[in-house]
Amino acid sequence: MAKKDKIAVFGGTFNPPHNGHLHLLEAFRRAVAFDKVLIVPAAIPPHKEVGNLASGEQRVEMCRRAFPDCEVCDYEVRRGGKNYTADTLAYLKTLYPQATLYFIMGTDMFLSFASWHEPWRVVQNAVILCQKRDESVSVEQLRRFGKESLGLKEEQFLISEVTPLELSSTAVREAVESGKSIREMVPAAVAEYIEREGLYAD
Ligand code: ATP
Repeated sequence: MAKKDKIAVFGGTFNPPHNGHLHLLEAFRRAVAFDKVLIVPAAIPPHKEVGNLASGEQRVEMCRRAFPDCEVCDYEVRRGGKNYTADTLAYLKTLYPQATLYFIMGTDMFLSFASWHEPWRVVQNAVILCQKRDESVSVEQLRRFGKESLGLKEEQFLISEVTPLELSSTAVREAVESGKSIREMVPAAVAEYIEREGLYAD
């Protein structure tokens, strides 16, 4: 029987991608030998304009720079408007019907998972991988939350035990706005792009 490919799917706004995102991906790369990693930047619906949001094209380009050995999937950005993870995963499943998909997220997303659009469809198509963003919850609490509150079975999710790297895109944008260096927060190629494009400066 042919080996089942393992494909990681990492969705986010990536406004901009930062070292916390890289850390999250690395945590799972060590645990699961992925055959492919898909980075999926989200489109933001026009009526929900977030202040200081880089365009879809700019965020795709920053993801290419941040994750040079991954595939950046512009499916959501091209579709525009509101995209649901459940639909994106169903689409990816049609592209890779034989693969096992793994959807990567941080604790904030995991803890709000029940309020996502059709979370059961997400679980139908992907194994959930969650990494702590800070030490406010323990791995044990997250495991219990997954089982008892979300009703997930053992094989449907994995909580990483890797020490978190506390960082957010918000912190990066705030640093740029206040004229601080972001060299320690994002990969050099992303910092160069932000500077060149004059992103987040006002
Ligand atoms: P913002 O500050 O603009 O809200 P963000 O830093 O949360 O952005 P997103 O692009 O919204 O970044 O996050 C994409 C995914 O990466 C989410 O699942 C989020 O939980 C996760 N994530 C972001 N930063 C970290 C981090 N430092 N550690 C673990 N997971 C993270």
